[in-house]
Amino acid sequence: MKKHLFLITLLAIHYLALAQKVTEPSTTARPEWSKPYPPFQIAGNLYYVGTYDLACYLIVTPKGNILINTGLASSAPIIKASIETLGFKFTDTKILLTTQAHYDHMGAMAAIKKITGAKLMVDEGDAAVVADGGRSDYALDGNVSPYAPVKADQLLHNGDTVKLGGMALVMLHHPGHTKGSCSYLFDVKDKKRKYRVLIANLPTIITDKKFSEIPAYPNIARDYAYTLATMKKLTFDIWLASHASQFGLYGKHKPGAAYNPAAFIDRNGYDTQLKDLQDQFTKKINGK
Ligand SMILES: [Zn+2]
Repeated sequence: MKKHLFLITLLAIHYLALAQKVTEPSTTARPEWSKPYPPFQIAGNLYYVGTYDLACYLIVTPKGNILINTGLASSAPIIKASIETLGFKFTDTKILLTTQAHYDHMGAMAAIKKITGAKLMVDEGDAAVVADGGRSDYALDGNVSPYAPVKADQLLHNGDTVKLGGMALVMLHHPGHTKGSCSYLFDVKDKKRKYRVLIANLPTIITDKKFSEIPAYPNIARDYAYTLATMKKLTFDIWLASHASQFGLYGKHKPGAAYNPAAFIDRNGYDTQLKDLQDQFTKKINGK
């Protein structure tokens, strides 16, 4: 109990310290980003510990746990409570990863890293924006950091494997949305079978500018084209994404529902999302 209070106090102190340097954009128009969601077991040792829409994933191993994405700054206590509700220790988090360096996935990263002492591994393409809290993001004006800056302990390159306690996650470089957006491909198993899981960072387009008018990211069009082409070729059993709405969590899982990994086997849903994104990309480069 004492330790619990201590951690909550630490979290609170971090918010106060960070609030002075960091301006997180208002999310009042997106209440589903802050709303809690009951944590649950997706498949084998893979768990959902995010908010209603900001997907965060916990992979539990005998050598400690891997946390992918951290939501907004205010998501830290939600993630901590979700991990503990599942019966795991927040402080057993050993490796931190993100699918992209935007504030809705990086908001609580610095605070969680400090409290858990976990190692942050980041796609090389996002290392610079992570280090300045998103201030140098090509889609922003460079005046504020939308999240607390945090230094990566290790940089990842396309195809690198993140290993911990028998788990092996392959990092797939899927740039465009940010310069270092990425997905993770790995196997989990339960008593019945093995599942190949893809945590996909879908290449949604965020800039209103023409791709040719973004000097801070000259290769943006080429990167989106590459990401769309390579993502179409991936094979997996289960797919998930950076936002719960992107992979249709609410249609596949009801809060409190029994363990059912098969609900997340949905190739068609993935292909439909990629087709929509391909259409948006094609319209964009055709100037429509
Ligand atoms: Zn984003």
